[in-house]
Amino acid sequence: MAVERTLTILKPDCVRKNLIGEVTKRIQEAGFTIKAMKLTRLTKDTAGGFYAVHKERPFFDDLVEFMSSGPCVPMILEKENAIEDFRTFIGATNPDEAEEGTIRADFADSIGENIVHGSDSVENGKIEAAYFFPESEVVANNA
Ligand code: ADP
Ligand code: MG
Repeated sequence: MAVERTLTILKPDCVRKNLIGEVTKRIQEAGFTIKAMKLTRLTKDTAGGFYAVHKERPFFDDLVEFMSSGPCVPMILEKENAIEDFRTFIGATNPDEAEEGTIRADFADSIGENIVHGSDSVENGKIEAAYFFPESEVVANNA
């Protein structure tokens, strides 16, 4: 299996619930290596740009409002098969449908406020990582 990178965001609900530490611990215990991370607050424009593919969806305005409602923690994570494994690790978009023991099943309140983002493909992972981090902020070698 190939080593891949995925972009996650610990969303504003994760930060508000004081879950940065707990979720980050689980990410590391699951074998993901953190290559970049920061605390930041998105503007509506930045949040809307990140979720541009959902622009026509009925939930878009709420999503932009939520994602800019407080600080969040974007991270670049690296692991073999990172894209698929991280999606499995966080669970379904709707926490009511998420597997027991996943991040969203354990911590999310609703389909909108679901604690974490995870890239859905290697290509999108690259685009999303570059959206938040210049190459100079990505650790080249964690050893
Ligand atoms: P995922 O984050 O699992 O990849 P999507 O890419 O489909 O899910 O949607 C992006 C984000 O938009 C979701 O994580 C969630 O915050 C929000 N969202 C998705 N579907 C809905 C919905 N039906 N109602 C409200 N918010 C939604
Ligand atoms: Mg998605």
